[in-house]
Amino acid sequence: MKLPKISLNLIKFENILGAVGVAKRLFNIQFKKVPFAVNYDITWECNLRCKHCYFFSSAAELEFGGKNTRKELSDQEWINIFRYHRELGISSATITGGEPTLRMNLLHKAVKIFPSVQIVTNGIIKIPYFKVKNQPILWVSLDGNKEMHNNIRGAPIFDKVIKNIQNDKRVYISCTISSQNYNQIENIVEIAYNNGVSGIFFLWYTGYDNDPLLLKGDPSKTAIQKILKVMKEYGDFIIFSKKMLEYYITKEFVPHCCFRKKNRIFSYYPNGELKFCVMGNSPKLCENCGCIVPVAVYALRNFDSETIDKLKKFPF
Ligand code: SF4
Ligand code: SF4
Repeated sequence: MKLPKISLNLIKFENILGAVGVAKRLFNIQFKKVPFAVNYDITWECNLRCKHCYFFSSAAELEFGGKNTRKELSDQEWINIFRYHRELGISSATITGGEPTLRMNLLHKAVKIFPSVQIVTNGIIKIPYFKVKNQPILWVSLDGNKEMHNNIRGAPIFDKVIKNIQNDKRVYISCTISSQNYNQIENIVEIAYNNGVSGIFFLWYTGYDNDPLLLKGDPSKTAIQKILKVMKEYGDFIIFSKKMLEYYITKEFVPHCCFRKKNRIFSYYPNGELKFCVMGNSPKLCENCGCIVPVAVYALRNFDSETIDKLKKFPF
């Protein structure tokens, strides 16, 4: 019998190390209950006060009963946590806030500790290229044309943000669609495309039931049509699939959300306390959740080929 040829490339030392690493990670997730990724809100501070900010509404919830002392972990305390999580085998960290660039020192440390880092930022402060092999992915918010963006963000920051992201291939635009800006989807995509970033993805505005910014009824239908249109026109630039769109509408992903399942993704407040999920501290948010992370993870778990294809250049 003729044995199949084994490519020498497959038995390279680094491949063996890689396979051992993957096996160790799977073992950790399965048996030692190590989360598959972490999300750190590293600061309470922000240089903006946006109308739709889920972080500050969630922080206000935490203040109920005087529980939130606004303590922020020191650089060294965060670094200890980063290292501890990395030693457990976690390789992907998402850094949020507040505005994480207000603690730039910590960003320099995080990219050295984790092989895969996502930084979620409003884009006002330019993020430097770090002296590491794997540059972080930058999720930069854009909500509309100049007038709309400045209006939602409550400050004239549009020009500065555009200047900071221009031709930076680390940047993916994160566009939160609400009842305010759903009509601007094509404009937002065009602005992102013309400014040379790597892509754009959409989040549905998340809030409690009576929130006027929630996207419902006809505006929601219009948003869906517009997203389908830009997906056709801009191809791979749109980091989004039809399945993800379907899950946003049906909310089928909610019971399977990776934040609700134990030991999947852990999310922390700036004082180091665990929070319910990245969106806030209450399960009541789930019925109107528009977070891209559980939607994308659920579509991947269901092996949707379009989602797999769209997300392959986008390491969560
Ligand atoms: S920039 Fe982000 S953290 Fe700051 S207020 Fe706006 S939404 Fe909230
Ligand atoms: S609000 Fe969204 S991200 Fe948070 S637990 Fe609920 S479904 Fe998951």
